[in-house]
Amino acid sequence: MRVRFWGTRGSIATPGSGTTRFGGNTSCVEAVTDSGIRFVFDCGTGARLLGSHLAASAPKPIGANILLSHTHWDHIQGFPFFAPVFVPGSRIAVYAPQGGGRSLSAVLAGQMEFTYFPVELDQLSAEITYHDLAEGTHVIDGVTVKAQYLNHPAMTLGYRIEADGVSIAYLCDHEPFSGTLWRTDSAPGKVESILHDGDRRHAEYMAGADLVIHDAQYTPEEYPAKKNWGHSTYEYVVEVAAAAGVKSLVLTHHDPAHDDVFIERIQDLAASVAAARGSSVRVSCAYEGWEVVLKRGESQGTAVVQPGSAPPAEGGRILIVDDDPELRALARVTLVKGGFTVSEAGSAADALQMVGENPPVLIMLDVLMPEMDGLELLRRLRELPAAKNLPVLMLTSLNDAESIRKGFDLGCTDYLSKPFSMPQLTSRVRACLARAAGVA
Ligand SMILES: [Zn+2]
Ligand SMILES: [Zn+2]
Repeated sequence: MRVRFWGTRGSIATPGSGTTRFGGNTSCVEAVTDSGIRFVFDCGTGARLLGSHLAASAPKPIGANILLSHTHWDHIQGFPFFAPVFVPGSRIAVYAPQGGGRSLSAVLAGQMEFTYFPVELDQLSAEITYHDLAEGTHVIDGVTVKAQYLNHPAMTLGYRIEADGVSIAYLCDHEPFSGTLWRTDSAPGKVESILHDGDRRHAEYMAGADLVIHDAQYTPEEYPAKKNWGHSTYEYVVEVAAAAGVKSLVLTHHDPAHDDVFIERIQDLAASVAAARGSSVRVSCAYEGWEVVLKRGESQGTAVVQPGSAPPAEGGRILIVDDDPELRALARVTLVKGGFTVSEAGSAADALQMVGENPPVLIMLDVLMPEMDGLELLRRLRELPAAKNLPVLMLTSLNDAESIRKGFDLGCTDYLSKPFSMPQLTSRVRACLARAAGVA
């Protein structure tokens, strides 16, 4: 398999003298199997360069499977400039996570309305198909593609491709699920020592991969001011990849404020994090034009992904359990906008009664409540037949490892620390529901 980087910048294209080495175009990575099946991870502005290259040199008709992580600007803006979409006979299949409330073709058509662009989506000459994807294992053009939800304020999928005896994973955009990576009761550095189920699942997903391409937009020093923006620090990414036994790690989605000198420093610092863990993972920062050729190795890991998860639910009733009426009101507005109906409980006792009478599809549960706290309520809920398997999303202002560990030990589905953003809440709710439906 051959992998080539066409766009390595996050958020917005950043041309200029300070970005000539690592590149200024937004996310776009091409992967081609030995048998010529082409995948394109994201269609940021780098897709223009890839499109021109394909139009000039690829055998016709041009075929490409575009795997969009999500539809934020920096991942789709190159699509209308991707030359093969104007070439009659080209076959382009576009895949993206379902769950934003609108179909993928409607979202892509939105950025090509006449107000923004002179050619509308349905005027493109290529044969283009649109596919809404959920978490799980898919076969595309005979190649195994494993998709898994990432933590970002929009429904976002990571993709892992296994072909030609090698495996690569593309994980953009993603933020740590927890500010604390390791449990306090076991030695750090191993997958099983990861505190939050979400971060552990993320590590298991990349386990043993030959190449992992990962969002690492921030330094650990920058991150506190950018929490909830949906991006990782190089430190988190290296720690997780090292624990997961990744062979080669490429950091990408470079911050627009980071020039070449700064990114080079990140590369050195990231390598020193790996060295401090005694890991042999090779760490590099992605640059435009870089081509990596992967050959079948001695051993390949395989990602563990539950096959056949259901698409995220667009509706259903969610019970919000929180003694803070303001938070309940804010969450209610957000969830109703997302197509859900909502009921509210101000105390654990009310919640128990409501769940017994009429179970919701998901419970959002505050940890700190007077009288009975959220962890005790979770324990009691799991004893109720009606709530035994219900997805439970814990909300807390306590970001301490002990509380997170207890929540997962008691069977919570996910654990979200306050303050969080409302888009983040919606995407975490949808991911919990999709996963629960897939397992049921
Ligand atoms: Zn992005
Ligand atoms: Zn994004």
